This record gives sequence, C-alpha cells and structure tokens, in this order.
Amino acid sequence: MTTSLMWFRRDLRLGDHPALQAAAADGPVVPLFVLDPRLAGSGRRWGRLLASLAALREEMGGALVIRQGDPAEVVAQVAAEAGASQVHVSTETTPYGRRRDAEVERHLADAGIGLVGTGSSYAVTPGRVRNGTGAPYRVFTPFLRAWREHGWRAPAGDPQVEWMTKLESEPLPDPPDQLDQLEQEAGERAALDRWEDFCADDLAGYASARDRPDLDRTSRISTALKYGEIHPRTLLADLGAHDTGASGEDVERFVAELAWREFYADVLWHEPRSAWRDLRGALHGMQYDEDPELVEAWKSGRTGFPFVDAGMRQLLAEGWMHNRVRMVVASFLVKDLHIWWPVGARHFLDHLLDGDLASNSHGWQWVAGTGTDAAPYFRVFNPITQGLRFDPQGEYVRRWVPELRHLQGAAAHEPWRHSDGLADGYPERVVDHAEERREALARLAELKDSTP
Ligand code: FAD
Repeated sequence: MTTSLMWFRRDLRLGDHPALQAAAADGPVVPLFVLDPRLAGSGRRWGRLLASLAALREEMGGALVIRQGDPAEVVAQVAAEAGASQVHVSTETTPYGRRRDAEVERHLADAGIGLVGTGSSYAVTPGRVRNGTGAPYRVFTPFLRAWREHGWRAPAGDPQVEWMTKLESEPLPDPPDQLDQLEQEAGERAALDRWEDFCADDLAGYASARDRPDLDRTSRISTALKYGEIHPRTLLADLGAHDTGASGEDVERFVAELAWREFYADVLWHEPRSAWRDLRGALHGMQYDEDPELVEAWKSGRTGFPFVDAGMRQLLAEGWMHNRVRMVVASFLVKDLHIWWPVGARHFLDHLLDGDLASNSHGWQWVAGTGTDAAPYFRVFNPITQGLRFDPQGEYVRRWVPELRHLQGAAAHEPWRHSDGLADGYPERVVDHAEERREALARLAELKDSTP
C-alpha cells in the first residue's frame, strides 16, 4: 500500500470519479486543491469556487488540503510531504490546464513521482471523436452522431477512500459577498438535488419549454458541471433510468445539449487559439467598431431593447443567463453594435458562474459567424421579435426590468409604442435595429467582395 495524492481541479465531487477511484486503489489518499491565482476569475466565481471547496471538504470529513501558489511547485511539494509515489488527476483539456499539467508533470518527474490522468470532465474525452480520416469534426450534427456512436462508460461507483489527514492545510480564504446564496447552491449534494428536481419536475416538456426564459424550465446544471460537482456521465445514465414522464424527444434534446458542451470542448482541444481568435478565417478583415458608450449600455442593460436588457441584468444579478437570451444579447452586440465578439465573451466570463472557456467562446463565435456553424453570418437576431416569440407575455422582461413593470403583457417588449412606456426611466433605443441589420449585412457583403 502506498500513499497517493488526489489533486482536485474541475472535479469537486466524490461520486462517479474515476481518478479518485484510481487513487483509492493505490492506498490512503491525500486530497489536495491548489488555489492557483490564475484561476481566480471574477469575484463571484471565486466565491462560488470557495463555496464548492467548503462543501467538498465537509463531504470528506475535513480531509481536504488547501494550498495556495503555483501548482508546479505546490503539487510536487505536497507529494513529497505525503510520501506519495503518484499524483492522480482527471485529465484536463483546456489550453491553460494542459500547459500547467505538462509543467507539473516535469516537476514531479524530477522527484520520481508520476502524474496519472484518469477520466475527464466530459462523457467522451475531447480529442477522441474523429471522422473516418482521423480528422476532428467542425460541424455539430456529424459530431453528435459520431459522439453517440463512440459512447461512454457507465458511471464509476462510489469509491471506498481512506483519507490521510496528517498534512497541514491552509485555511480557505474569506469569500467575497453573496456567499450565503452560493453556499446553498454549491457542492455535490446540492448538484445531485438540483438534478433530481429537474428530472422530476422539468425534464418532461424540456424540448418545447427550454427556449422560454419566462418559464425557466432548464436544468441550471451548468455551474455544477463547470466545477465538476456532478459528471455528465451521471446525467446521461440517469436520463434513461427513471420514469420521469419525459418523452423520447425531451430526453434526446437534453442529450444533444450536453453534446454541445462536449463538442465545444473538442473544438477547443484541437484549436486552442479559438479561445480568443476567430475559429474560421471567413470573416478576417471584417470591420468592427469600438464604442465604449454603446458597450457600456449593453453591459449595464440599458440599450432600450427590453429583451436584451433583461438578459444583461439577469447576468449581473444572478451570474447566469438563459441560453436563448445569451444568443440574442450576443447577436445584438456583434450585429447591431458591430463589436468584435471577444469583447462580449470577456464580459460574460467576468460574470457567469458557469463561465467556461470552450462553451463561451464558441457560443459567441456561433452567433458571430466565425465559429463552427456552416453559414450563420447572415443571421441577425431581431431582439424585438425574439422577445415576443420566446417571452410572449413579457414576464421575463418585467422580472428583470422594473421600469417596464407598469406595461401589461407583450407591451413590455415595445415600450416606445405606448405613451407612458418610458415614463419610469427606461431608456430610448440606442440604435435602430433595421438600420444596423442593413449595416451588418453591407459590411459582410463588402468583405466578401474584397475577398479574392
Ligand atoms: P440546459 O438547457 O438545462 O442544458 C443542460 C446542459 O447542456 C447545460 O448545463 C450545458 O452544460 C449544456 N448546454 C446547453 N446548451 C449549450 C450550448 N449552447 N453550448 C454548450 N453547452 C450547452 N454554457 C456554459 O456552460 N458556460 C458558458 O460560459 C457559456 N457561455 C455561452 C455563451 C453564449 C454566447 C451562448 C449562446 C451560450 C453559452 N453557453 C455557456 C451555453 C448555454 O447557454 C448554457 O450552457 C445554458 O444556458 C446553461 O443553462 P442550463 O444548465 O439550464 O441549460
């Protein structure tokens, strides 16, 4: 029996955890989390991470060792303190995670200690799904087919772990504000409860209700997935296992949404540069504007377009936004305000609790027309008709925009049509959508004409 080190990162749970199982098979386990300053992110996400770590530590009876610093040095140092011969991890697939792990592996090798990767944050580890010629997929539908054919393992059982507790831990830093709310939502237990509630209450009807921000019928499991408080394989196994009253279409739709997450992680794995650069060169040379005032109006939810402003205010208030609204506000920034997508992607990452480099950057690129979709560059979402269609009674808008609460039903989407529409201080529209749509298409046409 040897001691091994389990270095937790985006896998803050104990169940369905192949790397933890592998560590436990070796003998007693020292559980470690390194507070890497590079992963601090926004204050809110930092707070959410700390809440998740507090929950994990409690689940393992206080055994979690917390250390701050550069992982390359800290992991080797703790492994030496523990007398561990191996360090176990869930394989990391993001550009920074891969670079960091390579460096940690080099440091450990100098001390004769191995770094062992088992499993990842995905049902199918990025890089595995390839087409007949061995090339990666760039389009979602064929990826989805191949991903399903590839398949995934059943969830790993609960490991019997003997925690080794003799190492010193640093205290968890004081969290920023909003912790009360975050504490309730963080951790494996809360994630499993949330998932169970979703399966019981909202999976039936998901296929049709998922696009309606007013109904709020999606799983909201994205933040738990981001921190690895629950594994997608657990979700996939559960989907078929219980009688939830959901139709085959509901289940298929949910599986496909999880597959988008896997697809974008796969794209990023093959093209790390696409985190902040256009994936496809089709729009290279596109003319974008820089207008700090308009960007500020967008960020603060004061563009005068109610559906856009409701979404941007939900983001600021909750650190989350409904997917349909993410698409509409992203389109508004890129196509109506003519701002390059990374400006919006950065703002999202600063505020989203589920902020995930792969899903965020490629979600933005999908809207901008620089990413994986075949030809969406001419798609310009109309922020008014999108609102009328997906929030037909204006409830989502009134929830987030108090200045429009005096307007009944769908009137909240078009306050300028009502004599008292702007009476409570709601702003005028910052642009004319029809005009900016024409402008966006003209810029695209110009680009195409000038491309040899
Ligand atoms: P559900 O509808 O319940 O879906 C279940 C799960 O499927 C989600 O938790 C998520 O893991 C996955 N999923 C669903 N839709 C997508 C999608 N379009 N792309 C990738 N995965 C998806 N998702 C993030 O997790 N982090 C991000 O930073 C992020 N940024 C986005 C930025 C833009 C511009 C857009 C258009 C989408 C972004 N998404 C992101 C995807 C999607 O909006 C969220 O995953 C979803 O809204 C989370 O809510 P939910 O868990 O209730 O979703």
